[in-house]
Amino acid sequence: MTLCMVILLCLVMASTVTAQPAVYATVITHNEEPPGNPNYAQNPAVFWQHRAGLVRFAQMLYDEGVTYHFQSDWNFLLAVQWYDTGTVETNHRNVVRWIREDLGFEVDPHAHETQYNYADVAFLIQQVGVTPSHVVGGYIAWPPQNSILEHFWVPISGNIYNTTWQAEILWGGGTGLHQNEDTLWTSGIWKPENRFLILCHDDAAPLPNVGKYVSTFDGLQDLLDKAQDSTLLPGRMYTQTTVLRQTSLVSVAFVDSIRQRVRGLQPYEDLGLLHWTTMPEMLETWQDEFSSHPSRYSYLTGEYVVCSPEDLTLHCDDGNVTLGWKLVPDAVSYRIYGSITADFTAQILLGTANSSTFSTSADSVTKFFRVAAEGP
Ligand SMILES: [Zn+2]
Repeated sequence: MTLCMVILLCLVMASTVTAQPAVYATVITHNEEPPGNPNYAQNPAVFWQHRAGLVRFAQMLYDEGVTYHFQSDWNFLLAVQWYDTGTVETNHRNVVRWIREDLGFEVDPHAHETQYNYADVAFLIQQVGVTPSHVVGGYIAWPPQNSILEHFWVPISGNIYNTTWQAEILWGGGTGLHQNEDTLWTSGIWKPENRFLILCHDDAAPLPNVGKYVSTFDGLQDLLDKAQDSTLLPGRMYTQTTVLRQTSLVSVAFVDSIRQRVRGLQPYEDLGLLHWTTMPEMLETWQDEFSSHPSRYSYLTGEYVVCSPEDLTLHCDDGNVTLGWKLVPDAVSYRIYGSITADFTAQILLGTANSSTFSTSADSVTKFFRVAAEGP
């Protein structure tokens, strides 16, 4: 009897887990490099003003139980190094140490790399007394000719300092100035195959990428609505990050507005639809609970990203044509097309397949074959 009840309980729990998708989210802030942004290193008064806003904001997130990634470029860190010996409200530690040691938040390098590259910024984080994370705080991912994805696959050497830094988690892949970036707005974790196939997953690729989706609270609300109304498929990992400018934090009213916004999300937390989670924790969840299964839900299309089959093979014998290909993550079926010309302007559907092979009888006119993967 006890055994039956235990089994029943397991079944109920298992069905609860699979029935409801959840969103793993975090808040991130960026400070930037001058010119065009405050030069904290040259203006201690501006540094102290912005530091006060940062302290107010980080304390608010801590009080509200929200996770936070403080992502900093070089200039603010130099100012911390030069001016910040700690204050009462930061437990007599500099603001970066306080964020890490007292609040337990993440401290990641964020580098536009005009002078100081990722390794240099990570070195500056170390100089102010904090072990830098291995999270890439934003990078150009698209278009391929501008992408720096593969830079992160190997240790990066500093431009300014004699140091190296190795990324372990990619985040924030975007376009320059975030123009025409919505094709990249995906939720989930995957390992980008290369700079040309940034949204395609390759198990053998070195680094996982945490999808930012739409990086605003409205984006988070959109994803939570889709989780709640069953638009999102269960059994997959969904991620979202909200990015704010550190310069906004000088406004008390702004910080209060964010407090109200995160309080408004409490019902989703209570329902188990929202988990405030750091990116290293997201990666662990992806590995442990989702068996590192790639997931890329696109905001733009409202569909799951399914890439083209690779490694196509073709064998002809005994009047039969047999095609083979590498299985595509997230594909549920494949459509096989034939054409008498290479441009496939007059292609015909030869059939569909649920596995990685397809055979058909050869005819004398079909010379070209194409396989397309279809998503859920
Ligand atoms: Zn930036």
